[in-house]
Amino acid sequence: MDVLNDILDNLNDSVIVVDPRGQILLFNNEAQRIQRSISETPLRKGDYFSEIVSDARRPIVNDIFKTIKRQKKPIKSFADYTTPFGTSVFLEINFAPVLGDKRELKYISIIAQDITNRKLFEKKLRATAADFSNLLQQAHAVIFSVDSRGYVVDWNNFCAQLTGFSKDEVLSHRLRDVLISDTNDHIFTDLMESILRNEAVGNCEFPMLTKAGGEVIVMLSATPRTNANGHVIGATMVGQDITELSVYRKALEQQVQNQTAELEQVLRKEKEAVELKSRFVSIASHEFRSPLSSIDYAANFIKQHAATIGKKKLNEKVEVIEKHVNYMSHLLEDVLNYSKNEAGKIRIVPSKIDLEQFIKGVVEEVGCLYKHSRHICVSTNNLGTIESDEKLLRNIVINLLTNAIKFSPGKDEVLLNVLDQLSCVTIEVIDEGIGIPQSEIDMIFEPFVRGKAVDSVPGTGLGLSIVKKAVDLLQGTITVKSKPGKGSAFKVTIPRKRII
Ligand code: ADP
Repeated sequence: MDVLNDILDNLNDSVIVVDPRGQILLFNNEAQRIQRSISETPLRKGDYFSEIVSDARRPIVNDIFKTIKRQKKPIKSFADYTTPFGTSVFLEINFAPVLGDKRELKYISIIAQDITNRKLFEKKLRATAADFSNLLQQAHAVIFSVDSRGYVVDWNNFCAQLTGFSKDEVLSHRLRDVLISDTNDHIFTDLMESILRNEAVGNCEFPMLTKAGGEVIVMLSATPRTNANGHVIGATMVGQDITELSVYRKALEQQVQNQTAELEQVLRKEKEAVELKSRFVSIASHEFRSPLSSIDYAANFIKQHAATIGKKKLNEKVEVIEKHVNYMSHLLEDVLNYSKNEAGKIRIVPSKIDLEQFIKGVVEEVGCLYKHSRHICVSTNNLGTIESDEKLLRNIVINLLTNAIKFSPGKDEVLLNVLDQLSCVTIEVIDEGIGIPQSEIDMIFEPFVRGKAVDSVPGTGLGLSIVKKAVDLLQGTITVKSKPGKGSAFKVTIPRKRII
């Protein structure tokens, strides 16, 4: 029995054994220590257990005894006491029946453990958790959590301030239903995919909708939350509002983009200018050299044969000189027209134009130029008077007619159809000449561009670019249909009254 007592007295738990009526049969040292710390009533064998507990605990203890007698099963109970010194003592008490051979109740063992330290630790832990939660709640940063399906389970004050959505309005709602626009849904989907793979996501630019209908950008880091088994149960998101920064950055990017585009345009223009210059130099040297040498040749001939040359021969040579001088002034006029237009110096001078007279004049002029060697077959409807720029219109028709004649060697006539319609005038110049290969058609309106097969025909490659500019200035359109060997048809449409 001494052995048993020694064992009991050395236990950390308090042990009290009572008979079925609740009378104390034995107790150990720890039981005595606890009893002393919580009450002035000492532990004595023979006393009833219910009398040594506090008044508040008594009915509970009586109840437990009754239940044990009835059910013969152990019952766990917790008790907390305030010591005479005002401190708290927490006990975890196990009441267990001790049964005889016939399952009759012989004793009840009351084993109590002082769990004060554990309780205090738990209390501290709870307080720390509350502090921490408060900190998160008040932090000047976006902090929220979602579960694995994307439902919001935490939403701090800053989130509410930033988005305008209160905690109640987002908790238990899917984040994508309330805060993410359809266009940005993929960002959240990607983020959650990483989270569900248990991968953290750092520095993700995350646009969120605001209650006022706007958008804020948050630089977000997402960390997976796992349960005790290591399964991902959601994510905690922490971020900073970078809306202003992002707007500023986008504006900067736009600015850089605009400036790059401007620079590219300047460079393109510069490149075009260099190209034009070289095209001009090659055309000019070619086109000026042959008339100049013809003039030189004719002038030398006159000089050498001044005494003997007859009137007829002299006239012939002078005519050659005149023809080439004419041609060169024509070329120069083209170049001047072109550079005037490039410099934006051409001003539209609208005037009333009697179409009938105008066409007659132009046809006569071109006829003269080619010494009436070709027939210009004119077809018109009832032509009226239009308001347009006569000089520009002249440029258009003369250039198209001279091209038609130039590029249809050996053909007798070219056609000029003019139709005066309700809202526009169409001018069509048709020839049955050499035509234009499909590969060249897109380029022929560019300055100084000439067809590959037209080397023997004089020209600067400026005519059609001047025509195109004039048509644009008059807010018209120009189209061309052509087949090599079959001929070409240029069609210009000009609004009847220029819209200013
Ligand atoms: P140019 O007549 O001085 O060569 P243009 O700018 O008037 O220059 O024409 C550019 C090119 O378009 C010509 O070199 C020629 O290849 C082609 N072209 C223009 N009109 C015709 C036409 N009626 N028939 C065939 N080719 C044409």
